[in-house]
Amino acid sequence: MAERIVVLGAGYAGLGAAKRAARRLRGTDARVTLVNVSDRFVERVRLHQFAAGQALADLPLRGLLDGTGVELVVAGVTGLDLGTRVVRLDAVPYEVSYDVLVYALGSGADLDAAPGAAEHAFTLATADGAARLRSRLAEARTVAVVGGGLTGIEAAAEFKEAHPRLEVQLICAGPVGDGLSAAARRHLHHAFHRLGVTVHEYTPVAGIGPDGLLLDDGRAASADTVVWAAGFRVAGLAAASGLATDEQGRVLVDATLRSVSHPEVFGVGDAATAPTAGGRSRMSCQTGLPMGLQAGDAAARLVTGRDLRPARIRYLWQNISLGRRDGVTQFTRADDSPLGVVLTGRASARYKEAVTRGTVWRMRHPGPYRPGA
Ligand SMILES: Cc1cc2nc3c(=O)[nH]c(=O)nc-3n(C[C@H](O)[C@H](O)[C@H](O)COP(=O)(O)OP(=O)(O)OC[C@H]3O[C@@H](n4cnc5c(N)ncnc54)[C@H](O)[C@@H]3O)c2cc1C
Repeated sequence: MAERIVVLGAGYAGLGAAKRAARRLRGTDARVTLVNVSDRFVERVRLHQFAAGQALADLPLRGLLDGTGVELVVAGVTGLDLGTRVVRLDAVPYEVSYDVLVYALGSGADLDAAPGAAEHAFTLATADGAARLRSRLAEARTVAVVGGGLTGIEAAAEFKEAHPRLEVQLICAGPVGDGLSAAARRHLHHAFHRLGVTVHEYTPVAGIGPDGLLLDDGRAASADTVVWAAGFRVAGLAAASGLATDEQGRVLVDATLRSVSHPEVFGVGDAATAPTAGGRSRMSCQTGLPMGLQAGDAAARLVTGRDLRPARIRYLWQNISLGRRDGVTQFTRADDSPLGVVLTGRASARYKEAVTRGTVWRMRHPGPYRPGA
């Protein structure tokens, strides 16, 4: 019987994996099925832009899959039986069987990280969450963005630039842009000063209520809108099914991107963690897309009985937008540690836009993997 590769999740990692596997298997009778909860590709790296009021390109998955031979199943994954190799779904056909599985279900906001976050905070992790925030920002007056990582930084800058009447605060437990070089962090502070975003560093949040934040030191910070951008988490499905996972529930994979417990399963993108030059991969599009493309190659090799090669996962930069006309590009070593080299201002903004467009181009044309492409 024909071998069947099933890919769960059509984000950057899963869509790339499905298209690449289908391309490699052209001319064979192997089948590739892609399961996703919606029929649209979500450009997740632009969700802060969408929440700020900008229009995003509509990217139907059927259009992106046209001519590839990949079968699309629009359904939510509810369970995984690793023994019988069956995926359970919440819609027709309710079950799909696989010989090789690519697990690429991505991540969501970590709303258990602070009391009250699930009830009162808005998030940017999904298209639905960003749409709710977009409606809210149209009438908000004071916004507190919690999280000094890349998502919080990009969100605070984008919201203030798009809605200058808003009072925007960025609140983080450590320094803003932790892990970036001194030059990059200096530029972040200049940009926030120019835009009028108030930054509160070393200010841990203890909880969130209907009127704002309760801080660790007992003070309150009022805001009519709180955006929780302090970390992502993955669904419990992988761990619950018996796949070996790390403490965050991400699928533990080896250098060939295969699960360390179930070699017929590949794990890619935010939902998995692979060995890299600097330790293990962190959640990012920068690693998710190449992981997906290389897992697609590897899955095709597996079903055609060929040896697998170690994947190449390396970092090149951290590309941070500060609204539409400014940014910071922090160039990094392959292990993700920052170099002294940074690009700032309009040049960085244009660079990030080109990289982001290039990512969608890559989703349409998943040719050979080249780092940075
Ligand atoms: C606002 C924002 C800005 C960002 N900016 C950057 C950036 O500049 N650079 C960068 O490298 N990274 C950035 N990221 C992170 C980046 O978006 C993620 O690392 C990337 O999306 C991970 O890709 P993925 O394919 O693993 O997961 P996703 O893109 O999340 O895709 C997962 C897919 O699985 C589907 N799915 C989930 N659960 C189920 C289920 N149970 N059943 C069926 N389908 C399901 C989802 O609908 C989705 O289509 C940003 C993230 C956000 C939110």
